[in-house]
Formats: sequence, C-alpha cells, structure tokens
Amino acid sequence: MLIALLPGDGIGPEVVAEAVRVLEHVAPDLRYEQAPVGGAAYKATGHPLPPETLALAKRADAILFGAVGDPACDALDRHLRPEQAILGLRKELGLFANLRPATLFPELADASALRPEIARSIDMVIVRELTGDVYFGQPRGRRTTDTGRREGFDMMRYDEDEVARIATIAFETARGRKRRLCSVDKANVLETSQLWRDVVIEVGARYPDVALEHMYVDNAAMQLVRAPGHFDVIVTGNLFGDILSDQASMCAGSIGMLPSAALGAGGPGLYEPIHGSAPDIAGQGKANPLATILSAAMLLRHSLGRAAEADRIEAAVAAALAGGARSADLGGSHSTREIGDRVLAAL
Ligand code: ATP
Ligand code: MG
Repeated sequence: MLIALLPGDGIGPEVVAEAVRVLEHVAPDLRYEQAPVGGAAYKATGHPLPPETLALAKRADAILFGAVGDPACDALDRHLRPEQAILGLRKELGLFANLRPATLFPELADASALRPEIARSIDMVIVRELTGDVYFGQPRGRRTTDTGRREGFDMMRYDEDEVARIATIAFETARGRKRRLCSVDKANVLETSQLWRDVVIEVGARYPDVALEHMYVDNAAMQLVRAPGHFDVIVTGNLFGDILSDQASMCAGSIGMLPSAALGAGGPGLYEPIHGSAPDIAGQGKANPLATILSAAMLLRHSLGRAAEADRIEAAVAAALAGGARSADLGGSHSTREIGDRVLAAL
C-alpha cells in the first residue's frame, strides 16, 4: 500500500512527520512517497500543484495532507496561490464527500467553547458535500447593471446524482454509528434544498434502519450549541457544511485536535487536519500534531479497511491526553515532537 505524503507549508511538515512516526509504528508495511504542494511547491516549481504531485496523488492508495498557505504568496495571482493546490486535488480526484468527526476527548472538556457538561455530549460526524453548490455553480460573476450599480451573483445548484451520492455516504456512515442522520437544508426557502430533501428521503428508503430527520440550517446552528449531543451524523451541502463544521469543531475543543477525510468514488481518499498552515507558529515546534495523527487513523479505517490499527491510534491519543499531554493550544507546553513521543509511548 502506497501513501502519498503531501506535507505542504507552515506547520504542515511538522505535524505530518509525527503522524508518519505513528503510522510506521502501527502499520510497518506501508510505503511512502512524498511530494511538494502549496507554497513550497510554488517556490520549487512555479506551480502550487505540480503535475508530478498530482500524478503521485492519483497513483497512491491514500493521501496524507498537511496544510497549504504561505503569507509570502499573498500577492500572487489567484491560480498560483497555495490554496489552489487543495481545491485542485479535490476536483481532480473527485473528492465530493468531506467527513469531519467532531468528538470531544473527555479530558479536554475545559477546552471547549461550550460549558463542559454540554461539551462532553459531543460525538458527531458532519458529512459535507464538497464539489457542488454555490461554490461551483454557474453562472457567477460581477457586473455593472444598466443603472450603473455594481452587482455580484452566484448560482446555488445541485443535481439529483450529486445529492444521492453524498446522501449514500451519510447513511452508510450513520450505519456504522448510532444510526441517526440529520439532513440540514433550507427547504422552506430554497429550491435546491427542496430537491436535496426529496433525494435524501428517496435514498433513505434503502436505509430503513437509520432514523432520518430534517432540520433547517438556522435551527441546526442553534442546536449545535444548545444540545450538540442530539446529533450523530449530519449531512449537508457545501455552503452550510462549511459553516456548521467550523462551528462544531470549536465546540469540540482546539482546532489542533480535529481530523478530516475527503472521499470520492473509488479513488484514493485525502486525509488532513482541519487546521491550516498556522504561519504564526510555524518552525517553532509548538504545533499540536494530534489532528494529523487522528487523520492518519481515519486513513487506515476508511481507505485501507484497517479499523483495528485505527482504533489503536485513537486509543493511544486518548491515553496520551489522559497522561497529561498538552501542547500550547491546549494550555500546555509540550512540543510537537513530545506529543508524538507520548502517543508512541502509549502505543
Ligand atoms: P487556512 O487558511 O490555511 O485554513 P487559517 O487562517 O484558517 O489558515 P490556521 O492556519 O488554521 O488559520 O490557524 C488559525 C490559528 O490556529 C492560528 O493562530 C494557529 O496558530 C492556530 N493553529 C492552527 N493549527 C494549530 C495546531 N495544529 N496546533 C496549534 N495551533 C494551531
Ligand atoms: Mg481555515
């Protein structure tokens, strides 16, 4: 099995290095190839997603991605920006499903933005559609109207196949958990949401064992803070999912704790921490590597079908936290490497 390592910029290489140490320990048979991506690739080759990097990603069984983003590239044309690399990878690999578990390790209840007794109830997965919706719909643009006023417009659009495939992933995810699925939309106002709701109900007919409910996005935003324990799996479109998943992550503690997976139809999955390149702490050995280590566990579970090894990593992270492992974002002073050491010790 070949893992493509795309560490990227800022703290990306620091956190990916720790995740690889953990992977090498639990799954010594895996092979790795590394390639530059983002600002690092732009500096080396003039392109944030060089053809060799894309070719490696396509050839691999799974991709472990760090982060992209480099303030030194801020003045570049949009298509040369580091962030284009991750958008390009999602598009080229057809990674339409974003799985973001938001789970609070009980040891970290104090780190949540919520009261500890509410935070402890958080254990959900948000399944966000990643390649459609208003982010990609056409037409879009800016123009000046006949009356001389500036205007901007974006097209919110989904077709039934796009909804059905993300709904299927969400129902399957719910089946592996508490069998409760909440579909979030704005069907009282939006045509796309009415189609979304119809198609989710149709797909749901194949999953009679999963309890399906529908919620308007504004209510979902409120319930996420009021009673997050209500949710098991949430499925929603690209725009609503973007907002709700960031909201859920802060309820679940530090940005340095949360992993994610981007999956497509059959090809390699891409696994990355939800945080960015954190230029403010890059190169200082301060970054929390646990989000990336937990992303490696998701890689084993979802792309390689190796749930037992994934469980071992997650248990070792819990044990390290219980033993007092705390990087700066969690109010401690352990370095990136020390956190990795403690996870390895727990293994
Ligand atoms: P991007 O645009 O790449 O997503 P961003 O502007 O959203 O980046 P991040 O790079 O995620 O921001 O950083 C946001 C804040 O969180 C920064 O202060 C950063 O130092 C902190 N941070 C992010 N990741 C970690 C981590 N793994 N450990 C500790 N702190 C982190
Ligand atoms: Mg960000």
